[in-house]
Amino acid sequence: MAVSDGDTVTVVKDMGLVATVFDERKLSGLQGHLAIGHTRYSTHGASDWDGAQPVYKPVGRAGFALGHNGNLTNTAELAEKVGMLPGSIATDSDVVAELLAHAFPETGELAGALQAVLPIVEGAFSFVLMNTQKLFGVRDPYGFRPLCLGRLGPEDAPEGWVLASETPALSVIGATFVREIDPGELVVIDGDGVRSLQIPWLKEVSPRLCIFEFAYIARPDSKLYGREVHETRCRMGELLARQSPVEADLVMGVPESGVPAAEGFARASGIPYGQGLVKNRYIGRTFIAPDPQTRGDAVRRKLNPLPETVTGKRLVVVDDSIVRGTTQRSVVRMLREAGATEVHLRISSPPWRWPCFYGIDTPSTDELLAANHSIEEITEILGADSLAYISVENLKAAIGVGGDAVSGRAAPGSAATGRSTGAGHGGGFCDACFTGDYPTSTPTSTPVLFTRPEEPPAEYQAQFPGV
Ligand code: SF4
Repeated sequence: MAVSDGDTVTVVKDMGLVATVFDERKLSGLQGHLAIGHTRYSTHGASDWDGAQPVYKPVGRAGFALGHNGNLTNTAELAEKVGMLPGSIATDSDVVAELLAHAFPETGELAGALQAVLPIVEGAFSFVLMNTQKLFGVRDPYGFRPLCLGRLGPEDAPEGWVLASETPALSVIGATFVREIDPGELVVIDGDGVRSLQIPWLKEVSPRLCIFEFAYIARPDSKLYGREVHETRCRMGELLARQSPVEADLVMGVPESGVPAAEGFARASGIPYGQGLVKNRYIGRTFIAPDPQTRGDAVRRKLNPLPETVTGKRLVVVDDSIVRGTTQRSVVRMLREAGATEVHLRISSPPWRWPCFYGIDTPSTDELLAANHSIEEITEILGADSLAYISVENLKAAIGVGGDAVSGRAAPGSAATGRSTGAGHGGGFCDACFTGDYPTSTPTSTPVLFTRPEEPPAEYQAQFPGV
């Protein structure tokens, strides 16, 4: 994280979980009135200390720090612009920091540098930035990744402002949700409050929030486009039950993100809901192992069946997604070994056939099960009695699209907005990993650009759903 006391920006960062990186001693040294933090795993560039964020650049009196959610798609072109050599770059975020540093002398301040640089940056970015005096938040024009604004203290006498990727981050610190930052919006926060600045984007685009945020990525208590994610997941299960019904004795979810959709499936189908798998909550984050055998073993350590619940039962097992199929293959085998007579898989996202270039670490197309096999083949590979995925149309219907989907926006011109545009964007989605319909051009030079080792160390690879 980066902290400013008004004179100096101090950055402390490291690899690992927050609780292991920050202890009381480290936190007590971070005094100030302004801070940004970043906990995202690396999906682009090196999984090492250099790739950890916030990125810091010493420009002007004290420099600035930047945290980035998303991945850029024109990193190679941008790197060339500022003379960064392939192989010398830790992450795409590094390139943005370098561009801002180059623009700084001309504009003389960070807001101007952002307005000059952002129009040429393509891809997915929700940035938070800070210097010694100001906090900035910006979303790319598509709004691939979320970013919201919260307030500390009462509305008529705010005591502070907060930017966060997800709304639950506000409530845990006692802040009140104010609104989502609009796609394409730049907000500046300082002693005078919050205001919106115009960015001369090169083209007008329709917002395309990542639809997989709803299916898996976001916390269930998050609100996106004004919808509570947990409730949308329950509705995915309901629509899946109507779309692909099956006769069975028990509906269960693969913990934890498959559980709400399983509840919805049970509600709509009338089949009793039960917990057939227990998740080992003490494992914490499960890391991707480098080979299929080790990945399968990891799933077995993480999930354990409840034989008395599943023995002799025809099961509907609901999961959020299938990527390589490792989890589902292990789950089906475990449940059969525990006594289930039938296992019917129902998946609350569509077949994952294309890689993501916008901030989700997907394996290559060769490893995406649905990119290379028919539904019948996948059913056989996973050892299930039947398999059905929710359709893209039902996924969108479960979330509910159309109209002015962004709720919570304060009235135009109020202190919390300073912005009156962007309303009524209709809640559009990116669904490229399911449809191949990429909203932007896709990058071509990622493998040679970064200093990323060919096989990132297993202990630093973050868990991906359904591996
Ligand atoms: Fe989300 Fe898929 Fe689009 Fe990536 S490609 S941003 S995971 S919907």
